[in-house]
Amino acid sequence: MHKVHLRFYEELNDFLPEENRKKRFIHHFIDRTSVKDLIESLGVPHTEVDLILVNSKSVNFKYIINDGDDISVYPVFESLDISDVQHLRPSPLRKPKFIADVHLGKLTKYLRMMGFDIYYKNDLDDEQIIKISIKERRAILTKDRGILKRNEVTHGYWVRSTKAEEQVMEVIRRFDLQKCIKEFSRCLECNDLLVLEEKNKLLGELPPKVIRSQNEFYRCPSCKKIYWKGTHYQQMFSFIQSIKNIEF
Ligand SMILES: [Zn+2]
Repeated sequence: MHKVHLRFYEELNDFLPEENRKKRFIHHFIDRTSVKDLIESLGVPHTEVDLILVNSKSVNFKYIINDGDDISVYPVFESLDISDVQHLRPSPLRKPKFIADVHLGKLTKYLRMMGFDIYYKNDLDDEQIIKISIKERRAILTKDRGILKRNEVTHGYWVRSTKAEEQVMEVIRRFDLQKCIKEFSRCLECNDLLVLEEKNKLLGELPPKVIRSQNEFYRCPSCKKIYWKGTHYQQMFSFIQSIKNIEF
């Protein structure tokens, strides 16, 4: 029986049982495996990992573990004062685009409200999600960490909270989206970008009260839904402002 010492940092601890969190622990093994397989066998999807140090040297996922190795595993945003390290994440997706699993309908609406491109359908299975993610270069947002352990998946995030408002903050923080928020630019229903619509083109389509009180209207080119800054707007606006003002 061989053993390695392991330490997971920051939010990677969310995947570990209580007794192994935020400390160095010993793991016994019989067969030598890749460090990627070891990490995933302990419950941490590879998409969450950005840096692995073995005996203080950075290694890639293919590294085969040795008896006595001292392994430190860091998440994507752990800042480190170490030069010459090998980051494991492929370069970030240039324009952040996502695909959300069926459990994240409410999160999807919030993120679209902030202008983010979220592919969502409430009947997608894992295979379809992975396929679309690769084809359209979308990061997977999921409540199911199993999908993130699949080899084909390169960008993804396991959403921790069950509350949509907290989920929004998780995603904004993890993907560094705070400066990219463009509220009221995307249709909440179908994800298309909204276009400004002249008021006089909408006269027959809206209640007179709305026409009287509002001057700025947007229309979704796909589903034709009309948006204006009505009563829900203030509530949404203050939520979005609070997200913009958080110091992550
Ligand atoms: Zn629409």
